[in-house]
Amino acid sequence: MTGKVITIDGPAGSGKSTVSRALAAKLQYLYLDTGALYRALAYKALKINLDMNHPAKLAEFCSTTEVTLKNVNGKMTVWVDGEDVGEKIRTEEVGLAASAISAFPVVREKLLSLQREAGAGGGIVAEGRDMGSVVFPDADFKFYLDADLEERIRRRHDELVSKNRAAERSAISRDMKARDAQDTNRKIAPLTSAPDAVVIDSTSLTVSEVLREILEHLQDPLIADTK
Ligand code: C5P
Repeated sequence: MTGKVITIDGPAGSGKSTVSRALAAKLQYLYLDTGALYRALAYKALKINLDMNHPAKLAEFCSTTEVTLKNVNGKMTVWVDGEDVGEKIRTEEVGLAASAISAFPVVREKLLSLQREAGAGGGIVAEGRDMGSVVFPDADFKFYLDADLEERIRRRHDELVSKNRAAERSAISRDMKARDAQDTNRKIAPLTSAPDAVVIDSTSLTVSEVLREILEHLQDPLIADTK
């Protein structure tokens, strides 16, 4: 299968990053983690103590901050003003700030063309909250991954423990609920499954099982015929 655009949306902890990365590797596609773009902007906003509720300051921040994607040995990396932000954006604090800053239209507008350019040639698995609904409405295949809140909290807890990071269950639960509420209730590009997305509940599925289900859809001749 060559050149398709595949979108995978879903809330934090739904398993979409792991599955998207594995799918992209299997298909030898580019993996686009759009959460990393919002995290990158949030990382800088925290660093400079930006008042994101001040429209003029936020607009200036967006117009003067350079976010770029670089393909380093097949791996997409995110750079802010010439700095590879790498693992520095993978904290709960940056995740929450990303959720807050991503609710502003000026921020989403800034990152839209970057995402579309990355997907222009096809051969991409794009992961986020609005991939199928806003960024790639004409994607060849759309998936929406979900899982029960308790399971998503458990996964995030295990992930943090495996990285030797602070992992208090109550704090993870609080942050995840706040992020869910922010992402779902915002006016622009809220977290939602596109009407034509295949919804997969991963609560009791392993990564391999989710991947298998997605691959079955990609190979289903009934679906492929309509593409
Ligand atoms: O996926 P990740 O947890 O890294 O995303 C961080 C935050 O960025 C999300 O909580 C969400 O608010 C925002 N985001 C978004 N649209 C996307 C991807 C992420 O608004 N396409």
